[in-house]
Amino acid sequence: MKKIISLVLVALIAVSCVMGLTACGGSKTAEVKELHMATNAAFEPYEYYKNKKIVGIDAEIAQAICDKLGYKLVIDDMDFDAIITAVTSGKADFGMAGMTVTDERKKAVDFTDSYTTTTQVIIVNEKDSKVKNADDLETATIGVQRGTTGDVYVSDLKKAKIERFNTGPDAVLALTKGKVDAVVIDGQPAKEFVKKNAGTKILSDPFAKEEYAICLAKNSDLTAEFNKALGELKKDGTIDKINAKYIKE
Ligand code: GLN
Repeated sequence: MKKIISLVLVALIAVSCVMGLTACGGSKTAEVKELHMATNAAFEPYEYYKNKKIVGIDAEIAQAICDKLGYKLVIDDMDFDAIITAVTSGKADFGMAGMTVTDERKKAVDFTDSYTTTTQVIIVNEKDSKVKNADDLETATIGVQRGTTGDVYVSDLKKAKIERFNTGPDAVLALTKGKVDAVVIDGQPAKEFVKKNAGTKILSDPFAKEEYAICLAKNSDLTAEFNKALGELKKDGTIDKINAKYIKE
């Protein structure tokens, strides 16, 4: 009886192996290498949730790169200021989050060629704003997303008070509640935040100009592969097409 049971078991396992129900030995999925992308999915139109899925310009460019290079893309959502550590520790293979190329970050990670040029802007309340231009920031209470370039710029203002938030939407919420006088953040997400928060507006004073790129571990072999794929996607119009899909103006 025992013998029959073990024979049946062996047969069952064999069948389920063939059907792919059980991971047996060299599993099939091992053939396609997964790449983990670290991001902060609260940054429309670059990365945000739609129907419980992370979508956006960065998500689509990353997918196009992985498709070209034959990798399976896995997106890991985390706080913005955790992304570089995720990449340097090897927890993630790359970081992509509307991330600005800075000399400070270059000490920790390598960047690909840039894929977007953008600016930082100032968001204020339409009514009775204490901040009417960039100079007014000097003595204001300013909301920023922790660890971003916006945070770095305003941290230079000696008399300003800085409130740091985990996400851009949290900073804008504080503005609408009158807890901060202004929010300094990237131009394109700022437009989305203003659309969703009646009574807020973007000041016409532009702030710093910036370049977005993908960050990878220092001296990673992937950087050259990514640059090649990115170059092809720029040339064949894919990057423009993805941008146009999410930025309508
Ligand atoms: N571009 C800014 C930076 O790199 C903000 C990015 C973000 O908040 N996702 O710091």
